[in-house]
Amino acid sequence: MSLDIVVCIKQVPDPEYFSKITIDPVKQTIRREGIPTIINPLDKHALEEGLKIKEKFSGKVTAVSMGPPSAREVLEEALALGIDDAVLLCDRAFAGADTLATAYPLASGIKKLGNFDLILCGNETVDGATGQVGPQIAELLGIPHVTFVNEIEWANERDLIVKSTLERGYMKLQVTLPVLLSVVKEINEPRLPTVLGIMGATEKEIKFFNAKDIDVPEGTIGLAGSPTRVADVFEHKSKRKGEIIEGLPEDAVKRAVKRLRELKAI
Ligand SMILES: Cc1cc2nc3c(=O)[nH]c(=O)nc-3n(C[C@H](O)[C@H](O)[C@H](O)COP(=O)(O)OP(=O)(O)OC[C@H]3O[C@@H](n4cnc5c(N)ncnc54)[C@H](O)[C@@H]3O)c2cc1C
Repeated sequence: MSLDIVVCIKQVPDPEYFSKITIDPVKQTIRREGIPTIINPLDKHALEEGLKIKEKFSGKVTAVSMGPPSAREVLEEALALGIDDAVLLCDRAFAGADTLATAYPLASGIKKLGNFDLILCGNETVDGATGQVGPQIAELLGIPHVTFVNEIEWANERDLIVKSTLERGYMKLQVTLPVLLSVVKEINEPRLPTVLGIMGATEKEIKFFNAKDIDVPEGTIGLAGSPTRVADVFEHKSKRKGEIIEGLPEDAVKRAVKRLRELKAI
């Protein structure tokens, strides 16, 4: 069995630096300059699952990202991990996209690649965190999707049994390829790139597609194609003050309890 696997990966700001992100008071946009970026953490789990499935059967893993030219860095990292092909959907016309206007180019880009059996996404990103893009891609491609996936078993060559996390348990669903799965971190432990992988990645080419290349439907991209608008952006100013009680645990706990009593918190 040979499978065409597509993994959607997004370049996101490194959460370690979230406290350094500020808001431009005039433009009302988020200032990300100088903030290091990484592959969205759950997308690393999606890549790992794609690679594991390819190793188990055979086939091809292609990573697709939509973003500015700098997003090629996450694709280079994915190539170093062992994927076969990388595609960056990059066009000024994509700027200002909401989730639907992100899903349209991704779905069109995936269609442009030709055959696909399995599309893997992270369940959500660490920045936007809507969890909408995966299901929207699936709807646009007319294929089923399952979110919160923490385990994939193969019933036979075309049918999968996927375990999806629920608030107080899980459900098992049988789905037939082609399907889109949005994965959570419990699904696997992502590998690290090897030296050979990093060297091999420099020889692989990243394909760039613009809006015209992928025949994306008119009026579906960028700010103009976004059915939602950001009405306001503001910084949350916390009114709460922290107080650090230092010392050995036994003594610090006693003083913490005393302080909480003084404040009538307990
Ligand atoms: C009105 C509006 C305007 C916006 N303008 C901008 C803007 O100008 N610039 C900007 O950077 N953001 C902008 N955004 C945010 C942008 O819409 C989101 O970053 C994007 O749609 C992804 O949403 P998310 O982070 O919630 O992804 P989620 O739905 O949480 O992501 C789930 C999974 O989908 C896949 N995925 C998501 N995004 C991508 C991607 N780009 N490439 C590949 N795979 C992906 C990944 O596998 C990811 O784990 C705007 C949002 C709105 C609502």
